[in-house]
Amino acid sequence: MLKKNDIYKTEIIDYTTEGSGVCKIDGMAVFVPSAAVGDIAEIKILKTTKNYAFGKIETLLSPSPDRISPDCNIFHKCGGCTFRHITYQSELAFKQKRVYDALTRIGGIDGSLIGEIIDADNSSFYRNKAQLPVTLDSDGNVKVGFFAQRTHRVITLDDCQLQSRAFPPVINIFLEWANSNHISTYDEKTHTGILRHLYLRYAEKTDELMVCIVANANELRKEKQLVQMLCDGLPNLKSVVLNTNTDKTNVITGKKCRTLYGDGYITDILCNMKFRISPLSFYQVNRSQAEKLYKKAAEFADLKSNETLLDMYCGTGTIGLTMADKVKTLIGVEIIPQAVEDAKNNASLNGISNTEFICADAAKAAETLRKRNIHPDCIVLDPPRKGCESSLIDTISEMSPKRVVYVSCDPATLSRDVKLFSEKGYFVQKAVPVDLFPRTTHVETVALLSKLVSHCSTEVEFDLENIPPTKTETKATYEQIKSYVKANTGLDVSTLYISQFKHKHGITERENYNTGSWKSSVPTVPPEKEAAIEDALRHFQMI
Ligand code: SAH
Repeated sequence: MLKKNDIYKTEIIDYTTEGSGVCKIDGMAVFVPSAAVGDIAEIKILKTTKNYAFGKIETLLSPSPDRISPDCNIFHKCGGCTFRHITYQSELAFKQKRVYDALTRIGGIDGSLIGEIIDADNSSFYRNKAQLPVTLDSDGNVKVGFFAQRTHRVITLDDCQLQSRAFPPVINIFLEWANSNHISTYDEKTHTGILRHLYLRYAEKTDELMVCIVANANELRKEKQLVQMLCDGLPNLKSVVLNTNTDKTNVITGKKCRTLYGDGYITDILCNMKFRISPLSFYQVNRSQAEKLYKKAAEFADLKSNETLLDMYCGTGTIGLTMADKVKTLIGVEIIPQAVEDAKNNASLNGISNTEFICADAAKAAETLRKRNIHPDCIVLDPPRKGCESSLIDTISEMSPKRVVYVSCDPATLSRDVKLFSEKGYFVQKAVPVDLFPRTTHVETVALLSKLVSHCSTEVEFDLENIPPTKTETKATYEQIKSYVKANTGLDVSTLYISQFKHKHGITERENYNTGSWKSSVPTVPPEKEAAIEDALRHFQMI
């Protein structure tokens, strides 16, 4: 039995999806942050549970051949990067495996359909967007930077290897203005003070810079002076915007924007087209990798001139508009009004007129389009991390497109949705991971689904647990939850435990399994499994 503070000599053999090293001690999985596969080390146990433990490297006896020395002196404190201590090649292998494991275990697809990850030419300074909290340091001076991992302590941006180099000069000017005018900073506990976030965006190809100040106010004292100082110090400044956020919330931006300088947006060039981006609209944070992603999506979409393309979760219209010249009609759907405005403007900016953009929730818009008797030949889906609503997948299958191109930033929710699509007769034909976020664990995947052939390698054995869920049961199936828990924690959880957890937390169960209260003979869920199930259900947005 492992004990806290005990030290064991062992080898790191794998990574978790969060990028922690994994080793096995006395048959138990131990998770070790900042370790590298191949490290031989003395591991000190920090915390144990019944089935797994957490540890840290006490002494690194023989470093993994994948190790490199981190090129950032705040690497371990900051938490923005996970992989500055291993080679880029081994990071790519981790990402390839992450997508492979999710798609084969949760999605049930044949692993041979997954192509090699598309790598990044450049793994530094690629982020074109920073949302930096504004606080006070211990001397009462205004400070701007990232929150250290799992804390509210701010780390400054000076040495950041991910953010655009266009940003540090803005921060210096902003701090000079805020400190010399004693502008107050927002305190989330008391909900008082003005400055909340400094939100920066940089259009890499056009060298246009946007500065957006997120404030707990409709106006700033010395607003004109700030604009003047920014204009004087930043030759590439294109827009200054004040965003008002007076809500008690973790959400960074509020709904209201007021332009203090310029047009209120910047314009970048992506796939040789111009895209206007305003503060509340989504734009891919890694421009050059986004081009590679879109190219692969276009290849999978394989569009014909008489076809209709539906671009779901379209943001400022980027994916659809880069394919619009290939099709008869493009319809884009997006929920954020400013992004839809941008998308419409982007169509005319690029001389594209065969488009319709709809501002609505994707699932609702799909239902409306289906009722309008619109049958897209190809549907591109690019949802946020939580993936698609299952009702959207139902409606899409009723629309019966020839091809669905699914662009995903979370392999687990992609895999869940792929499984749902397979139940509707749509199967993955091919999938490729794309590295949009070097030095982090995040990985994008683009997958082509169609009705052509089922490549499912395994038929999962179903017994009690695999009675089809009732309508009230949501999203992930028991198999998917089990696979997720296994992949993340190494634990095996039974259907009974998942059911019990759902019951305890008021998630509706199938009727025949939920008529009475739990019998005393039913074992209760051990706490570590309960935590693992809870994590999985959160992941699948079921709680
Ligand atoms: N395809 C775009 C945007 C992808 S990000 C691009 O590559 O730039 C996902 C987008 O989905 C965001 O713009 C977000 O605002 C939008 N979104 C989030 N939830 C949505 C919903 N329920 N319905 C429609 N759009 C949604």
